[in-house]
Amino acid sequence: MNMENKKNNHIYSTTDTNKVVLTDEEWKNNLTPEVYYIARQKGTERPFTSKFETSNEIGTYYCAACGNPLFKSDAKFESGCGWPSFYEPISKAAIIYTPDNTHGMKRTETQCGRCKAHLGHIFEDGPKPTGLRFCINGVVLDFEKAKEAEKNYEEKGNE
Ligand SMILES: [Zn+2]
Repeated sequence: MNMENKKNNHIYSTTDTNKVVLTDEEWKNNLTPEVYYIARQKGTERPFTSKFETSNEIGTYYCAACGNPLFKSDAKFESGCGWPSFYEPISKAAIIYTPDNTHGMKRTETQCGRCKAHLGHIFEDGPKPTGLRFCINGVVLDFEKAKEAEKNYEEKGNE
């Protein structure tokens, strides 16, 4: 997790479950321009640009805007669509689903359940057991490796 980006973000917490409601100006001050563009302006990162797209490290993915836990690496799969893909959220409350009829398409937008950051979209062509594909912008994800994975990694002497 890049804490350097977080030091100006006063609402970031991986344990606080209180809903976050800020003004646009406050979000601008809390987020990096990249995260702000996706999370608050419903932007989309270019496909195949996220390091998380093909990553298979064990751990937890959080909302980069507020720290809300969103997905476990167990639920991640390589869809080949160009964005990090998951078949289920970490909990029911983690994600909010909103109809999105922009760009001439009928889609369902996924938003962070804590701060309503735009995350991506959900499609019904995912793998079992859910058949769902959460297609998520990597820019709005923070990843934290599982403790055990972290330890093994350090023992191997990698940086
Ligand atoms: Zn959030």
